[in-house]
Amino acid sequence: MLVVMRQGATPDEIAGVVRAIEARGFKAHPIPGAQRTAIGITGNRGAVDRPVFESMPGVLEVIPVTHAYKLVSREVKPEDSVVKVGGVAVGGGEFVIVAGPCAVESLDQMLTVARLVKAAGARLLRGGAFKPRTSPYSFQGLGEEGLRILASAREETGLPVVTEAIDAESVDLVERYADAIQIGARNMQNFSLLKRAGRAKKPVLLKRGLAATLEEFLMSAEYVLAEGNYDVILCERGVRTFSDFSRNTLDLAVVPAVKQISHLPILVDPSHGTGRRDKVVPMSRGAAAVGADGLIVEVHHDPDTALSDGPQSITPEAFGTLVSELRQITQVLGRTL
Ligand code: PEP
Ligand code: MN
Repeated sequence: MLVVMRQGATPDEIAGVVRAIEARGFKAHPIPGAQRTAIGITGNRGAVDRPVFESMPGVLEVIPVTHAYKLVSREVKPEDSVVKVGGVAVGGGEFVIVAGPCAVESLDQMLTVARLVKAAGARLLRGGAFKPRTSPYSFQGLGEEGLRILASAREETGLPVVTEAIDAESVDLVERYADAIQIGARNMQNFSLLKRAGRAKKPVLLKRGLAATLEEFLMSAEYVLAEGNYDVILCERGVRTFSDFSRNTLDLAVVPAVKQISHLPILVDPSHGTGRRDKVVPMSRGAAAVGADGLIVEVHHDPDTALSDGPQSITPEAFGTLVSELRQITQVLGRTL
């Protein structure tokens, strides 16, 4: 259910509705909009007593939310959400590029890549310290040491940092060191992890599961918002299909589909989405063209020696060329880069 306040409703009137919602044991989610504030109600098992709220001062109307996902839906918030990651606005007029290696390997490696991607136009830095690997014998990441390295790279370049948390323990650490918490594809439906991220004080970058439908994807985001963290950025990173020429099939059509239903920003990951270096650049151009809010792309200064995902990592030179192409594509669409 959604309580829509009148334009110009006072803070006291809004607080009164929030109190009335909470007094019934429900959770209130005030969502300020350009025109008016709406207050989402979650946590109710049965019907909400509409007339009670309709007659409260400052209330314009009470409307049922028809979709199973509520807080992520445009029904609840018609305007696009803008999520700030360490001062960088994702989902506004800018096409935001997150770049960096798959994994943090050493201070030297991270600083080298960070400086190069920054010079080429990246706005946020990526790099995994906790790596969810298919094989237990593959490089698992440097853990907290990796987070310290990321913090040094941020200090050196000024680029805010996005990095993955794979369990409750690593969320505590990532929340402390990073500017945004990435929840990976394999954990998209790890509901206890989503709830924990929903209580975090940092934005969440939520990647689509390997075989997740749009509804499942948005429901996972709903878990984070329902806990009170409204700063969620979605990320399309490819899904499993029968295609045998790429690691995954990058589902670019999900971008306009998400935009229709949800106010949350969405990035595209052409690296995991294809798994092949030669496909990263063309699919990145496509991502910009279909209206994504940005990219998260793997860049390594020496991809052939990378400890993780070398075959899909592009060089800093290729990244530089890509950014200049994207400047032209995004300009056509009225975005800055
Ligand atoms: C990653 O970003 O390095 C990663 C592991 O991504 P995904 O969860 O999409 O596989
Ligand atoms: Mn990777």
